Amino acid sequence: MSGRVVVLTGGVGGAKLVLGLSHAIDPDSITAIVNTGDDFSHVGLRVCPDIDTLLYTLSGKSDEVRGWGRAGETWNFMEALKSIGGEDWFLLGDGDLALHVERTQRLARGQSVSEITAAYARAWGLAQEILPMSDDPVATWLETDEGRLEFQRYFVGRRCAPVVNAIEFVGAAQARPAEGVLERIGASDTRAILIAPSNPYLSVDPILAVPGIRDALRNAKAPVVAVSPLVGGQAVKGPTKKLMDELGIEATPQTIATHYEAVLDGILLDERDQGSAAPALRCAYADTLMKTLDDRIRVARAALALADEIAG
Ligand code: GDP
Repeated sequence: MSGRVVVLTGGVGGAKLVLGLSHAIDPDSITAIVNTGDDFSHVGLRVCPDIDTLLYTLSGKSDEVRGWGRAGETWNFMEALKSIGGEDWFLLGDGDLALHVERTQRLARGQSVSEITAAYARAWGLAQEILPMSDDPVATWLETDEGRLEFQRYFVGRRCAPVVNAIEFVGAAQARPAEGVLERIGASDTRAILIAPSNPYLSVDPILAVPGIRDALRNAKAPVVAVSPLVGGQAVKGPTKKLMDELGIEATPQTIATHYEAVLDGILLDERDQGSAAPALRCAYADTLMKTLDDRIRVARAALALADEIAG
């Protein structure tokens, strides 16, 4: 089957699926709609962690061992910054820094995050389309037992230790979807819309909070299929399970399915979570643990197969 495949994604977990998909179908026919709620300004620079994770992963530059950032990274800037008493809680590698410095300059010249991301993708020869969810600022803030924290302060600064009571997407209500986002979701040649196994509350919800995106998903002709971020009832990485516990949500594929239900046609669950299907949705099961490239391709194929089956 041909047509465009649109993926709603956060950073590391989502990028795994988009990479797998890029080996399963023509990378030209892939659009990633990326969370920008994690974006922030740091040491005078604009940092877009999820977009950069996609760029690094798809161009083969990501550090697979460390699990974030660029392979072969050096840290001269960080060491120099620390030696003069600069902020050192958020690590910026020398190569990584280039993206943030250039982005900050381009933003000052009036370019949008969309334009800058497209320019970086072009420079690195990427065929996939990478769209920020919005070019307007949206910032994820967490209400915690240590007070109100901006996303990176919680995630990196405090390593997700604070107990979360509530999550807020500041600016989301006024934000407009970036150019191309609604068009790609609603296009008649869109074959499938996938929700990556990213953190539903911190990575996907900010995308769904941008006015117009939920409705576009609900009205899309293409089937919308999520890949569950839970494997055997646990998050593979990151605070998904801890966060669900703190918010009083049972960490089951059922609750993930219910969370997305209004926009979803189907869900791909891990085979270790058999029996926990959501009654209102079409379910498929696969080994969704993505350690190798082959795993990533297998999960992408399974999600697409479910979407194609739903489309009939
Ligand atoms: P971040 O923005 O870098 O934190 O990453 P994401 O939000 O995109 O991804 C984090 C989520 O991805 C976590 O909830 C993980 O459980 C999930 N995840 C990571 N790796 C895998 C995997 O191999 N399989 C599945 N099913 N989920 C995964």
